[in-house]
Amino acid sequence: MCGIFGIEGYDDAANHVYLGLYALQHRGQESTGIVAWDGRRMPVERGMGHVAEVFSAASLARLRGRRAIGHTRYSTAGSSVIGNAQPIVVRTSMGSIGIVHNGNLTNAASLRRRLEAEGAIFQTTSDTEVILHLMARNPRPEIVESLLSALADIEGAFSLLVVTESCLVAARDSHGFRPLAMAKLGAATCFASESCAFDLLGASSARELDPGEVVVVRESGVTSHQLPATPTPKRCAFEHVYFARPDSVVFGDAVGEVRRRLGAQLAREAPADADVVVPVPDSGLFAAIGYSRESGLPFELGMTRNHYVGRTFIEPRQSIRNFGVKVKLNPVRSIIGGRRVVLIDDSIVRGTTSRKIVRMMREAGAAEVHLRISSPPTAWSCYYGIDTPRRKELIAANYPVDDIRAFVEADTLAYLSLDGLLRSLSGPRESYCTACWTGDYSVAITGEDRRQVELFPVATEEDGTAD
Ligand code: 5GP
Ligand code: MG
Repeated sequence: MCGIFGIEGYDDAANHVYLGLYALQHRGQESTGIVAWDGRRMPVERGMGHVAEVFSAASLARLRGRRAIGHTRYSTAGSSVIGNAQPIVVRTSMGSIGIVHNGNLTNAASLRRRLEAEGAIFQTTSDTEVILHLMARNPRPEIVESLLSALADIEGAFSLLVVTESCLVAARDSHGFRPLAMAKLGAATCFASESCAFDLLGASSARELDPGEVVVVRESGVTSHQLPATPTPKRCAFEHVYFARPDSVVFGDAVGEVRRRLGAQLAREAPADADVVVPVPDSGLFAAIGYSRESGLPFELGMTRNHYVGRTFIEPRQSIRNFGVKVKLNPVRSIIGGRRVVLIDDSIVRGTTSRKIVRMMREAGAAEVHLRISSPPTAWSCYYGIDTPRRKELIAANYPVDDIRAFVEADTLAYLSLDGLLRSLSGPRESYCTACWTGDYSVAITGEDRRQVELFPVATEEDGTAD
């Protein structure tokens, strides 16, 4: 996953991109960067870590100009190193080009092998770089034509922003896997992965790009193109379950509202004989509110989260029990003690964090722990940009629910049904990608492309970054 933000036609564009990235920090905490076009040069700043750590007043001052884009990275393809931090910026015969990408290309490895065989020299291991090579090798007098032709060659998931010397371009793949929206800030046009970034800047008239839409913004105005293939949209339903911020509107639905509906539906499908509903913060919060309202059981914040755990965190030499999770989460004993707890979380990936959390609840005196998950079992790898690539690591790919219950040591465990999930979304059910629950892949990925994506491990709570 990743967050992207861009703006065209605004003084100090990079400063506004910085703010937009701040609002999109939840979409990626590994690295961040901004590139601007100042009319002569295309300066870029990148670094490992959070937006607040990477940029300074001095580095932002270097990024002059009225056109800028930025990125917060959560690596799904390409390892977590500074060389893979975005934006990627290159010089071509059409001038300088900078790009940021959210999603995952499903034919990047095979395209790369072909390009390398023809002499291309890649600077990163990121799938995104392929797009720049395709453009550089196919220059056109109108640079947008070169980009459109590159986009016709790539497959999979992409929401991307491209800065050139003449324009800012935003593009969304024809399935619309990942979100991307545009809005007005005075006379300027801005783009963001999620609407929460527009709220921060006071941008208005937001609308989502259509699947397959390519929007070109020049000082002279805005034009829109459509990529040739227009299949049924396949919007990532996991954005609603976990990824997006609850105050964003994604795919036409308010995310927090969707999560409350998921929780309410979960209460109808899987009631529990219990005393109190407790969310795993922050990812289980809204679903727990929905579960509590529907079930009539009281809602309590029975677990506290430390929000200040950063990348530079130093692990102790001696092992402390459940340490990795304890740094972030701690039960509130006065709420948990002696109670039968319904614990709500959004998903189980490997099950290792969930097991630690259930143990923490028992150590805090919970009489019973009933785990309820506000999505179906995550049993299939995502090839479209969510960080769940290795099937063998997904507990639900390998074990039935009752074995998972035993593994996480809960008294009972239930997941939301796929039907219940899809009924909580306002779009037609076939317009969502549900591959991580069903294995129903709308864009096939095979051979070396598949192996490439599966090289990368799953990150969860334990790594200290996720919600
Ligand atoms: P597990 O019990 O599988 O070890 O961890 C479950 C937790 O991982 C849940 O709280 C869930 O919010 C979180 N999670 C779900 N999807 C992702 C993801 O794509 N990336 C990360 N880092 N965490 C996730
Ligand atoms: Mg979580």
